[in-house]
Amino acid sequence: MSAFGAVDVRVERISASRLPSFDLGASVFGSEMSDHMLVADFARGAWGEARIVPHGPMPLVPGISALQYGLSVFEGMKAHRSPSGEVLLFRPELNAQRLVRSAERLALPPLPPERFLAWLRALLDIDAAWVPPGDRGALYIRPCLFSIDASIRVKPAEACRFVMFTFPFANYYSASIDVYATERYVRAFPGGTGDIKPAGNYAAALLAEREAAAAGCQSALWLDGLTRTQVEECGVMNVFFVIDGQVFTPPLGGTILPGVTRDSVITLLRDQGVTVHEVALSIEEVARAFDRGALEECFGTGTAATVSHIRRIRWRDRDFILPPVEQRRIAPKVKESLVAIMTGKARDPHEWVVRLE
Ligand SMILES: *Cc1c(COP(=O)(O)O)cnc(C)c1O
Repeated sequence: MSAFGAVDVRVERISASRLPSFDLGASVFGSEMSDHMLVADFARGAWGEARIVPHGPMPLVPGISALQYGLSVFEGMKAHRSPSGEVLLFRPELNAQRLVRSAERLALPPLPPERFLAWLRALLDIDAAWVPPGDRGALYIRPCLFSIDASIRVKPAEACRFVMFTFPFANYYSASIDVYATERYVRAFPGGTGDIKPAGNYAAALLAEREAAAAGCQSALWLDGLTRTQVEECGVMNVFFVIDGQVFTPPLGGTILPGVTRDSVITLLRDQGVTVHEVALSIEEVARAFDRGALEECFGTGTAATVSHIRRIRWRDRDFILPPVEQRRIAPKVKESLVAIMTGKARDPHEWVVRLE
């Protein structure tokens, strides 16, 4: 038992950390895991104690409904190191709450947010050395919750597992991306699971990503599932457009994932005096804005890249080529402000950052 107040965490440390043989500032996304992972099981109506153990394979029987029926949800978040060496989290309570919503939608037992946050602290306390220096990169945190029921019947899960693992990744130069507006595949529809993070959403998106790649694009631009006219998201990011100096992004309403980055970017833009409209926007309207020279910027937001500039939108046989990033006024500035807050380099007016001692 370790010293995390009321939190029950049992720790089995790795015999020799792999950290000394590892270049924290050169790792690519997900290539090397940190030393430990946290595992906790839900059984007979209650969450058991958490175990922090060396990262590695877990024996599971093949019939579990996570594998058979996709009863599996996840989160994605990052920890940064401040200039003075502290480990910083960014709005982690939002990830904790979103994991609850994701679990509830798949009839999985939710993990109470206080527990999630206490376990996250416990894991980061053990593997704090894996958080790269602030100017080199960040630690990615992957919590996931899935059914380990092996009854083969399709039914709500009774036995579940929560696993949280982390890995360091280096800042990479992210080139602006090209996106392909797919009319063939849809990501979400009213009453579906577009506003949560179940594993199945990502499996169902892969062919659209392949279709995009065949058109020379890095990502799908998703249109709404009913009419395939309204722009919804971009790959696994929320999407923003700058038209005539004002910002437009689709409203949350059941088919859009409520991104932590999306919410933070909207808040910071408004702080900077930029008008942000959370309104439905059709691909036709995007095309018309482009035709009259008013489409100034387009970008995606998400935890991994924070803000990804979009260079080109392909729709049917048209290409909307956007102005070069150096000429953009809105997205580069909000990205810089957001990253400065996340990395502890700027004042944090909304008290988003949680400092771990
Ligand atoms: C996770 C995710 C996002 C981004 O959410 P953040 O909280 O900003 O990381 C956007 N769209 C989809 C579909 C996602 O899965």
